[in-house]
Amino acid sequence: MALIVQKYGGTSVGSLELIRKVAARVAAVRGRGDSVVVAVSAMGDATDRLVDLAQALCPAPDPRELDALLATGEQVSCALLAMALHARGVPARSLTGSQVRIRTSSAHGRARIEEVETTVLDAMLAAGEVPVVAGFQGVDAAGAITTIGRGGSDTTAVALAVALKADECQILTDVDGVYTCDPRMVPDARRLERLSFDEMLELAGQGSRVLHLRAVEFAAKYGVALRVLASHGDGPGTLIDREDPTVEAPVVSGVAFNRDEAQIVVSGVPNAPDTAYRLLQGVSGAGIEVDMIVLASNQDGTIDFAFTVHRGDHAQALELARQGAAYCPGARIDSTDRVAKMSIVGVGMRSHAGVAARLFSALARAGITVRLVSTSEIRISVLIDETELERAVRIVHNEFSLSGQSGNY
Ligand code: ADP
Ligand code: ASP
Ligand code: MG
Repeated sequence: MALIVQKYGGTSVGSLELIRKVAARVAAVRGRGDSVVVAVSAMGDATDRLVDLAQALCPAPDPRELDALLATGEQVSCALLAMALHARGVPARSLTGSQVRIRTSSAHGRARIEEVETTVLDAMLAAGEVPVVAGFQGVDAAGAITTIGRGGSDTTAVALAVALKADECQILTDVDGVYTCDPRMVPDARRLERLSFDEMLELAGQGSRVLHLRAVEFAAKYGVALRVLASHGDGPGTLIDREDPTVEAPVVSGVAFNRDEAQIVVSGVPNAPDTAYRLLQGVSGAGIEVDMIVLASNQDGTIDFAFTVHRGDHAQALELARQGAAYCPGARIDSTDRVAKMSIVGVGMRSHAGVAARLFSALARAGITVRLVSTSEIRISVLIDETELERAVRIVHNEFSLSGQSGNY
């Protein structure tokens, strides 16, 4: 008898009819003789509507109260799913994060899961009941309700799977697997049979929202294989697991993109050992995450220093960079938030040269200017004008022959 953790996303539990269908699917797992623990997201766009309510009342709501409010979305869906299971004769009980005792840090809105107690879950499983756990939430040491970041129910599911030593963690959603690119952007994207943790980490980290980044980090750390599947449909989905050394990996497995970008360029500053530090110390001191960084030398001995931040941090980062450059009267600062980042990811890049040249050549033929570049061993990211994003993604998807029938890894 296997133990399966299943997570159902917001669209998959968006109506009572869909919740009934989810209950049927959960019942089918039990019918096969397996045990199942379910994690659910809030129904449809319930979380967005709760955020809107809070912001209509005050533009910067108290983080503790905002978490108390947002956590109610998942409390609704897990109670309804438990009722739908009862209606099918399946013994089930809904549990909030606090009732399970999913202990987190106190960083409201982005709390980190520190421990998942299994006493309550173990007892329920031993009694043949289905625990239906509210995703996205936990409780801190002081007893306050916390949330773990938008899209975080994936991470709840993986944390449950790790704590319970489950045999499989299934992420059931509105697509039937992980595709070579978001199928909403590239309609002929191809479903991947299999993807390594490293590739999925890069894709999730570069904006592919099919899985929450922390969920993939957790799964990779503890070696829990994930399967992304359609909630309402059949098919094998996509297995995300350790790299299979016996299979030759494609050079590029997928394309991710992120519109949440802003670029700041400080030009004409003298090149000294502490230049980069001076320009960025205010930004990093304010806890603003800096992503891409490029430092280019000019003929006159000065340098241009360019970096990117999240779009929401643009105004603050610009002001802090201005303060950082104040020591140098000749410095000029430009910035824009009309930029986007596109990334190609594939473990095969490790052993293939010339991937960057091929990427730049495809973009050059299409007349798309690259503003910044960053790389890892298995990823190349380019910053481009936001207006060019859709075209760039499709061109690159074609260049690396990512479209077509679902194939093997
Ligand atoms: P859920 O509510 O189930 O968590 P999400 O909306 O968070 O669902 O994630 C599923 C969505 O992720 C899909 O509808 C799809 O548009 C998007 N997506 C982005 N990149 C990919 C990709 N590479 N493969 C599949 N889906 C992707
Ligand atoms: N309901 C939360 C959100 O909308 C968490 C999740 O869906 O995973 O972000
Ligand atoms: Mg999601």
